[in-house]
Amino acid sequence: SQRVVIIGAGIVGTNLADELVSRGWNNITVVEQGPLHMPGGSTSHAPGLVFQTNPSKTMTHLARYTVEKFLSIEKDGHKCFNQVGGLEVATTPARLEELKRKHGYASSWGIDARLVTAEECFKMYPHLSDMVLGGLHIPTDGLALAARATQLLIERTSEAGVRYLGHTPVTGIELDGRRVTGVNTPGGIIPADIVVSCAGFWGVELGAMVGVDIPLLPLAHHLPNGMNAELPILRHQDKGLYYREHGGQYGIGYYGHRPMPVVAASLGLTPKEVDEQNMPSRLDFTTEDFDPAWKESQKLIPALQDTEIADGFNGIFSFTPDGGPILGQPSHLDGFYVAEAVWVTHSAGVARALAQILTTGRSEIDVSECELSRFEEVQVNRDYVSETSQQNFVEIYDIVHPLQQRTSPRNLRVSPFYSRQLELGAVFLETGGWERPWWYEANKDLVKSLPPSWKPVGRDAWSAQVYSPISAAEAWKTRNAVAMFDMTAFHRFEVAGPGAVGLLQRLTTSDITTKPGTVTYTLLLNDHGTIRGDIFVLRLDDDVFQIGANTATDLAYLTREARVQEQNNPGKWSQVRDITGSTCCIGLWGPRARDVIAGISTVDISNKGLPYFSLKKTIISGIPVTMIRKSYVGELGWEIQTSAEYGQRLWDTIWQAGKLHGLIAGGRSALNSMRIEKGYRTYGVDMTTEHNPFEAGVSFAVDANKKDDFVGKAALQRLSSQPPSRRLRPLTVDDGRSMALGKEPVFYNGKAVGYVTTAAFGYTVNKPVAYAWLPGGLSEGETVEIEYFGKRIRATVQAESLYDPQMHRLTQ
Ligand code: FAD
Repeated sequence: SQRVVIIGAGIVGTNLADELVSRGWNNITVVEQGPLHMPGGSTSHAPGLVFQTNPSKTMTHLARYTVEKFLSIEKDGHKCFNQVGGLEVATTPARLEELKRKHGYASSWGIDARLVTAEECFKMYPHLSDMVLGGLHIPTDGLALAARATQLLIERTSEAGVRYLGHTPVTGIELDGRRVTGVNTPGGIIPADIVVSCAGFWGVELGAMVGVDIPLLPLAHHLPNGMNAELPILRHQDKGLYYREHGGQYGIGYYGHRPMPVVAASLGLTPKEVDEQNMPSRLDFTTEDFDPAWKESQKLIPALQDTEIADGFNGIFSFTPDGGPILGQPSHLDGFYVAEAVWVTHSAGVARALAQILTTGRSEIDVSECELSRFEEVQVNRDYVSETSQQNFVEIYDIVHPLQQRTSPRNLRVSPFYSRQLELGAVFLETGGWERPWWYEANKDLVKSLPPSWKPVGRDAWSAQVYSPISAAEAWKTRNAVAMFDMTAFHRFEVAGPGAVGLLQRLTTSDITTKPGTVTYTLLLNDHGTIRGDIFVLRLDDDVFQIGANTATDLAYLTREARVQEQNNPGKWSQVRDITGSTCCIGLWGPRARDVIAGISTVDISNKGLPYFSLKKTIISGIPVTMIRKSYVGELGWEIQTSAEYGQRLWDTIWQAGKLHGLIAGGRSALNSMRIEKGYRTYGVDMTTEHNPFEAGVSFAVDANKKDDFVGKAALQRLSSQPPSRRLRPLTVDDGRSMALGKEPVFYNGKAVGYVTTAAFGYTVNKPVAYAWLPGGLSEGETVEIEYFGKRIRATVQAESLYDPQMHRLTQ
């Protein structure tokens, strides 16, 4: 098999060696700068609390596998997981509500969890004071004995043939062109086909060896230490605290202190002799930072009032801009992978995911949200990483609304329409550094003139956050007159060159050898026939395409595939270029969209002149534009694209021309509602690499007659004959008002059977709408229940689309 070098013998590196060797790979070397019996990284002193439940399904499932695996690693009758259960307590009414939401996540992702009363908390944890109002108990949580697991994994993988080199720092990574060929150590070069950096918080330094920015920040974190618990692991998130009891002592972890960033390179080399007190990842305890935690702990557990702190230290581990781990490979290199910023909680899960990617091309748990390539260019510079990672440290236990915004860094990327949007009172939300209008205060007065069936209904306090009834007015105007939406932040790439047709023909499920001027909605699959992206392919010329994509990961994928194709066949090169920032785009949609354009252009925009899913390069009032006949809201109109320098003029021109026809500017909140009514999926939210096109309801994007082979074709043929065991289905809420926001569990006959992906109030259908993964056999008209903060909301399974299923609005 391939020669693999793993850098780092922490919990991630040793698990990866184990996952690979158990899949039959037999040429693996693990290189560790510290001594193998105690390497001295974060794992060497990790207290190993494993709370599995997370808002993210991916993270929860990575944790669940880690628990299963650690329970199976055993020696002398002792397991590496102490399943004492996890108890999260609430001392405020807001936290009590939050625990209900968390209970919902647990049900959605298949973790057994129970909301418990204050009395039950005291029974489980007799030392608690009466300030506790209630809790969430997860019986399968507990303590991972990470340092011990590391040692046992070293033992068992060594027996299986893995080579371990202790006291061996990697000082460089060898490359032949773009291909990794080995690692450099003081003892010489170790040749390799695949190098995986599992270097923990040293990841930045390892990445720098091959010119890869690793967006993680090492931070010091307080921990008085200990072992062998019997009581559940405990979280008191209202004060940023967690606890593990160990035979009359407590280990107390605290996230309430100031962030303390560390530069790994400044820590010096790992000493020859590492022990509990002396390791690079362990800094001196800063008592003054711990004082508030100590006071709060004495309030929560009064028995601590008569005790003293026995021992403490500041341990170092990694934080990232979005709090997720970093997994995958950079697009410009072959054979270099990373698995970093990984907690013990997710360690075995991440290691298995990477082993599956290396051996089969796909992880069974979707890890798109962990991809190294998920970050935009602006998000990997050190200033951004430092500021946002520190924020994540501070907010780690906060109650965070799904739409909550950071206040800094902001205004990193704005579209050319930004100043006009400010004049219209846009309320901006940020994604990928882009400022995107959510609604416009300028449309406030329209709310009063809404017809009764469009009047927005009242909301509960949670779903009323980051919400305005103005969105209802913006949707109403779009459906009944015309609105313009800023579509600039959607990723646009150009794929051009003699290899472009072949590349896209091989990667997509559609025949893209159509004539220039056509638009195709298509899927990117993996070899297993599941979905790795959905894109629009716009054929601009014989060898020039524009791609409308979802994420920076799509760019990395296309770039890599183009490069590999060129390596194999130099004549078939193609250039993949991100043109998102150099262009801009207005979605002009609504029944009166044609009237607006007719006033400023003589171009034939009739249904015949520019049919649905076609495009035209033309001029509007002297501005060169591309008009693309497609819609994200299900209405007549176009995405009108131009290069950035003409953007403001284009906005002003359309705005002026639209006045006659009632044109307004609309925000993403209204757009999202209309998207869901129309049934348009969002990749990464509604469907992921865990789903195939049949169950996700996008098999219409697979061309059954496509002659050329494409990635996933063979697997799709197999899948097409199996009835889907689950399906993504639209639901409408029966009472017409109770909101869901996404990720809530769905119950059928009292049993949790699925979960909501996205949800919004559907202003046109005048009900909340949710998309949910449900058992394949559930038919339309069946009643299910969505659990929202512990309350069950009745909803009905519907047919698609809820809005204009015949597509009359789009094709007139
Ligand atoms: P590490 O254990 O740091 O391993 C990386 C290894 O790479 C090191 O041994 C290092 O020596 C080696 N290395 C680095 N550079 C080189 C090089 N150039 N050449 C050779 N070798 C190299 N997680 C939880 O899940 N639950 C918790 O309760 C928890 N609490 C924590 C409390 C504290 C105080 C700290 C510090 C961390 C805590 N964590 C917790 C986080 C967790 O410990 C880490 O995320 C995890 O151990 C990281 O494992 P790793 O294998 O990626 O990194």
